[in-house]
Amino acid sequence: MLGLNYRGPYRVRMDRDRPIPEIQHPNDAIVQVVRSCICGSDVHLYHGLVPDTRVGTTFGHEFVGMVVETGPTVQNIKVGDMVLVPFNIGCGSCEYCKEGLYGNCNESNAMSTTSGGIFGYSHTTGGFDGGQAEFVRVPFADVGPYIVPPDIDLDDAVLLTDVVPTGYQAAEMGDIRTGDTVVVFGAGPVGIFAAKSAWLLGAGRVIVFDKEEYRLDFVRKYAQCEAYNFEAIDDVVWFIKKLTDWKGADVCIEAVGCEAVGRAEQTITGRLKLQGGSATAMVWAMNSVKRGGNVSVVGVYGPTGNLVPVGNMVNKGLTLRGNQASVKRHIPHLIEHIRAGRLNPKEIITHRVPMEEAAEAYHLFSNRLDGCIKAVLIPPSISY
Ligand code: NAD
Ligand code: ZN
Repeated sequence: MLGLNYRGPYRVRMDRDRPIPEIQHPNDAIVQVVRSCICGSDVHLYHGLVPDTRVGTTFGHEFVGMVVETGPTVQNIKVGDMVLVPFNIGCGSCEYCKEGLYGNCNESNAMSTTSGGIFGYSHTTGGFDGGQAEFVRVPFADVGPYIVPPDIDLDDAVLLTDVVPTGYQAAEMGDIRTGDTVVVFGAGPVGIFAAKSAWLLGAGRVIVFDKEEYRLDFVRKYAQCEAYNFEAIDDVVWFIKKLTDWKGADVCIEAVGCEAVGRAEQTITGRLKLQGGSATAMVWAMNSVKRGGNVSVVGVYGPTGNLVPVGNMVNKGLTLRGNQASVKRHIPHLIEHIRAGRLNPKEIITHRVPMEEAAEAYHLFSNRLDGCIKAVLIPPSISY
C-alpha cells in the first residue's frame, strides 16, 4: 500500500510498497483511509523534536476511513462502516477512560506514565503506525472509532478527529465565564477552533495573536475576532494589558507549542536543545493573563527536557494552580478548626528568642540548626 515513511528530521517520503497492516488482537480493526490530515503536531515530529521518533514509521493521527476488517470481538463497528478515528487510543476500561479521559489512557501505551497511545506519533506515545497511508490498524476498535453520521461531511468528520475537539477543550479548560476576554496564541487550526469555541462558551471578546498575515485574515473572518500580528508589536504583554484596560485577559489559551517564535532567548535555547523547545507563547500567556486568571495550554511540548516539564503537564492533563494566599478569607474557618482542636498551629514553634537575639535566630533558622522549625521573636518589653 501507499504509506508515509519517516526517514529522519526534515525527511519523509511516500512508499508504494508498505505492508498492509493485519489484525493483531481480537479487538483490532483495519480501516481504509479516505481522508487524512497533517497536523501542527506532525510538524514537531517532522522537525525531529519528539523523542523516539523512529525511522521507518508512518505518521498521521487525523483520519477517517471505511472499516474493511474487524477482529472477532469487535461489536460496535462493522465492515463497511465509515468511521472517524480520534487521534488518541483509549482502552475504554481503565480508570482514566472510564472518566472520559481517553487521552490519558493507562493501557494503550503501558510503558509510559505520562502519555496514552496516539496514532503515528513516535514510540514515546506507543509506536502505532498512523493514517497517512491507505490502511491503518486501529486497536481497541470498540472504543475510539465513531461512525460518521450520514449527514456529516467527511471533510468535517476528519477535523473532528483532533483540531476541533482540541480547540474546544482548550476553551473549555479556560473555564470561560460569560463576557470574559479570551486571548488565543496561535492562529493555526487549533487556535482557530479555540477562538471559535471561546464564543460558544460565552466569551465577550476574543483576541488572537500570530505572525502569519494570511492566518490572521482568516481567523478574523472565520471566528469573528480581533487578530494581531505579534511581529508588528514591541511588547505583546504590554499590548494585551493596554487592550484590556490594564487588567489583562481573563483567559489565555496557548495553541502554539514548542516551536514558538517571538523571543530570541527562548528560540535559541530551544533550538540548541538547552531546553525542550521554545516556551514563548507560554510566557506571554502567563504574563498577560489577569491576576486570578486562567491559562489553558494545548500546544505540544514533546521533549521532556524543559527546565519546567511543560510537556508532561500537557500530556498528563494536569491542573496547576498558584496564588498568593488571600489570608483574610481563610481566617474565620481556620479559627474554627483551632477552637475544635483539629488544628494546633503553635506546636510548630521550636524557638522563643528574645528580640535582641534575632541575629542568632536567623543563624539557627537559615542553617537548620538546633531542630529549628519556627522561631518567634519576643520584644524585651513583653512579659507574656
Ligand atoms: P500550527 O503549526 O499550524 O500553528 C501554530 C501557529 O502558531 C502558527 O501559525 C505560528 O505562526 C504561530 N506562532 C508561532 N509562535 C507564536 C507565538 N509566540 N505566539 C502566537 N502564535 C505563534 O499548529 P496547530 O495544528 O494549530 O497546532 C498548534 C499546537 O497544538 C501544536 O503545538 C500542536 O502540536 C498542538 N496540538 C495539541 C493537541 C492536544 O491534544 N493537546 C492536539 C493537536 C495539536
Ligand atoms: Zn493533530
